[in-house]
Amino acid sequence: MNIRRLIAPAKVNLALLVGPLQPDGYHPIMSVMVPLELGDELEVELVVLPTGRGRGAEIGRRGERAVGVSVTCAGVADGENLVDRALGLLEEESGWRLEGSVAIHKRIPVAAGLGGGSSDAATALRAGAAALETAGGPVLELHRLAELGFKLGADVPFFLTCGSQMACGRGEQLESFPLPPLSLVLVLPKELLSTGAVYSEYDEMVEIESGAEFVARAEGARVAWHRVQTEWIEGNLGEEDLLLRVAALAANDLEQAAVRMVPAMGRRRKDLEDAGALATLMSGSGPTIFGIFPNHAAAAQAAAELIARGHRAVVTRTRALSANPTVALP
Ligand code: ATP
Repeated sequence: MNIRRLIAPAKVNLALLVGPLQPDGYHPIMSVMVPLELGDELEVELVVLPTGRGRGAEIGRRGERAVGVSVTCAGVADGENLVDRALGLLEEESGWRLEGSVAIHKRIPVAAGLGGGSSDAATALRAGAAALETAGGPVLELHRLAELGFKLGADVPFFLTCGSQMACGRGEQLESFPLPPLSLVLVLPKELLSTGAVYSEYDEMVEIESGAEFVARAEGARVAWHRVQTEWIEGNLGEEDLLLRVAALAANDLEQAAVRMVPAMGRRRKDLEDAGALATLMSGSGPTIFGIFPNHAAAAQAAAELIARGHRAVVTRTRALSANPTVALP
C-alpha cells in the first residue's frame, strides 16, 4: 500500500456576514475565507476494491462510515470523525470498497472556528477519489466531491478547492478570491464552541434583518472586497495600504454572540490589539481570535508577548494564493 502524507490546512474568515435563518435550516452568508499554513497532518494508506472483493463485508452502513478503514485521531471520538463519513460517502457513491487507515495528527484545535474537521474531511475525499481513480474505479469530478462534501459540512467544499475564496449562498457558492499572504497571530481558545450553539445564540440576539436587507448588505461588502482586490491586482495599492483596507473590511457577525458565550474572548482581543494587530477578528463561529500584522517579525514579536501574558498564541501565514489544498509532505 502506498502511504501518502497530506496537509489539511486550517482557515480563517476575514469576513463573515450572516443573514436570517431560512426555512431550509441554513443561514445565507457572505464570507472571505483564507487557508492557513497551520494544518493537520494525515497519513493516508488506502486500497480500493470493487464491491464483494474486500475482506468479507459488503459496503458497510451505506455512507455512514467506511468500515474497512481505520481512522485514528486524538481528541475526536472513534466513529465520529468526519473522515469516516467522507470515506463512507465515497464508497456509497462509487460502489467500490475502501480499506486501509487514516492517521490524523491534529495541529488545528478542535471546535475552534478554524475548520479542522471540514478540512480533514475534504482531504480524505480528495485522497479517496485519487485512490479510486488510480485503481481503475469511477472518476469523481470536483463538483461531485463538493456536493458530497456539503453533506458533511458547509465549509467542506471550500477546502476541496482551497486558495482564498469568497463564499456566498449557504457557503457552497465559491469564487476564487486571490489575496497576498498575510501574517497572522491566532489566539487559541481554552474552550470549545459548537457552531450550532453560536448560530442559535445569534438568532436570539440580533434584530431580525429581512432577507432583502441581508442581500443588499452582503452585496455591498462583496463589491467593497472586490474593489480592494482589483486595486491590488492593478498595482494601485501598496502592501501597507492593502493591509489597512483589508483590516477596515474585516468583520464577523457572529462575534457578539460568541463573546456572550465565552467572555474571555473580549480580553484576548484587547491583548491582541495592544500587541500591535492592525485588525483583530474572530474566525468562523469562534472562539479563536486572530490578529493581522504588518509582517512575520511583528507577528512573532506579538505572539511572544501574548504567550508571556498567558495566552496560547501561534504565528501563521495565509496560503491565500495557493490553489491546491492537498499539499503532499516530503
Ligand atoms: P467549523 O467548520 O464549523 O468552523 P470548527 O473549526 O469550529 O468547525 P471542528 O474542529 O471542525 O470545529 O470540529 C467540530 C466538531 O466536529 C467537533 O465537535 C468534533 O468532535 C467533530 N469532528 C469530527 N471529525 C473531526 C476532525 N477530523 N477534526 C476535528 N473535529 C472533528
